[in-house]
Formats: sequence, C-alpha cells, structure tokens
Amino acid sequence: MDKKHHTRKMNVREFFKRFPDDAACLEHIMSVRYGHRHTCGKCGVVDATFHRLENRKAYACSHCGDNLYPCAGTIFEKSRTPLTVWFYAIFLFVSTRHGVSGMELHRQLGVTRKTGYRMGMQIRQLMTKADYQGLLGGMDEAQVEIDEAYVGGRRKGKAGRGAEGKTVVMGMWERNGFLRCKVVPNASQLSLRTEFKANIAPGTVISTDEWRGYSLVIGDGHAHGTVCHGRGEYVNFDDAGYRHDTNSLESFWRLFKASVRGTHVQISKGKAEAYLNEFTFRQNHREMGQSMFDVLLAAA
Ligand SMILES: [Zn+2]
Repeated sequence: MDKKHHTRKMNVREFFKRFPDDAACLEHIMSVRYGHRHTCGKCGVVDATFHRLENRKAYACSHCGDNLYPCAGTIFEKSRTPLTVWFYAIFLFVSTRHGVSGMELHRQLGVTRKTGYRMGMQIRQLMTKADYQGLLGGMDEAQVEIDEAYVGGRRKGKAGRGAEGKTVVMGMWERNGFLRCKVVPNASQLSLRTEFKANIAPGTVISTDEWRGYSLVIGDGHAHGTVCHGRGEYVNFDDAGYRHDTNSLESFWRLFKASVRGTHVQISKGKAEAYLNEFTFRQNHREMGQSMFDVLLAAA
C-alpha cells in the first residue's frame, strides 16, 4: 500500500465494503482490542486462538472454551444500537470538517433524536480520550501559540454581543505539533495562567497577541513574543528570529465558530469543551487519514 493511499480518508463505499454488517464490526473490535491469537486470560495458554460464537457478541478460547466479549467495557457494550450504526456514526465524525450534530445522526442513521444526541456526545468523549494528553512544547526551539476566543451564546439580542452569555476558551497550539483547547471560567490572568502551567512545558517560546493576561508568562523561563493586532500587526519577528503570530489559532476559531453556527443550533456552556475537543481531535489527526478511525475505535 503506498503512502498516499494509506493517509487518504476512507470514502463511504470503502467504509461499507470494510464494515458490511455487525459481524465485520465485531471482528474489527476483537482484532483491535485482543487480536485473534493471544494469551487466554482463563487457561493461560499463550497464543491461544479464539473463534466466534454464533448469535452472540462473543468469542471462545479454542483451548478451554472460555468466553470473551470484545465489546465489554466499551461504549458498545450496553447499547441497543447495532455496531454498524455506531461505526457509521464514528465514520461521519472523522470524515467531516464541520462537525456532526445529534440531529444529523438522527436523520442519517435513523435513530431517535435523543439517541443521536447521546451517541454524538459519547463519540466526542472518545475523541477527547484518544487525543494527545502530554505537555506541549519543551523541546529545543519549541514554540506555542496562545489565543483565547469567545464561543457560543445567543447571536442576537441582549446576550449576543461581547463576552456576555459566551464561553471563554483558551487555545494552545505547538507549532508543527498538537493543538489543545480549554474552557476557562473567564479571561483573567489567573484562569489563563492555570491552564498555561498545566499544559505547557517550561522553557517553551510563547507567541500571543497583545492581551495583557499573557504578560504573566514572563518570569517562568519562557521567551515570549507578541503581535499587536491593535496596531494592525499580524506577524512579528523577535531578536532571536522567532516568528510570532496567532494566525493558526485564529483560523481554527473561525472554522469552529462557523461550523457551530452551521451545524448546531446552539451549544450549551457546559458542553462547549466536548465540541471543541471534537474539532481539536480532527485537527491533530488530520494527516492520519483512515487510521484516525481506528484510533477512535481503539479508544472505545
Ligand atoms: Zn483458554
């Protein structure tokens, strides 16, 4: 398989060829979680083979007959929704650029609105769990861009303007590396600094806009540069040759906000982080193509 094919996203036809029915989905969960040959947990035979049991979502050890349920402990275990429907929902989440609403799952999968919404939130949780969790930056010459945005809230009327009714989110994006977004209680120095310290390795070069909150960054061994949007400045080079801008995060906020307006009627304050994590996961894994799908299933 050439690289181009491997990193390309799976299309709908390929998806249904690969996962035509629930049996194919179960086979896939089995091979991702256990493989068809592994040490049996019951009899201890190393490299035991397992075969599928008829009419049950289970396999049996060919040596001792012990039953193994590949869906145990996953989001599929207690769900009445068929595996093919789950798999197709996950496929929609990794294929889209603008996100998937519960309403769209309801329409495309033929599940109830409530089920569609719940499946969407569970898939967002998977995306959160499967994403990179370590510190950003820390390596030589590592640079992290930081910017905050106001998302959600009503578009028109009293709460439509400014920060009122909106959720404050902080984005941290390592150049040529991972993106992370956090919902913060407000845009105060304390709130931003708490996330800053929890997510960025000491010594990392930081780029921000002129927002005063980030002046606190200095004094922690971080080099820091700003771009001053108030002066119409969008890129700035410091004495050490670092290019400072927050352009990547700004385009990410634009995509996120436009998608939320287009895809979801409204997202509640408490759920904003789940939706952000969905977009962050896709951004962080966009070069993986169809293996993005397997990463999510492995996290299930
Ligand atoms: Zn066994």
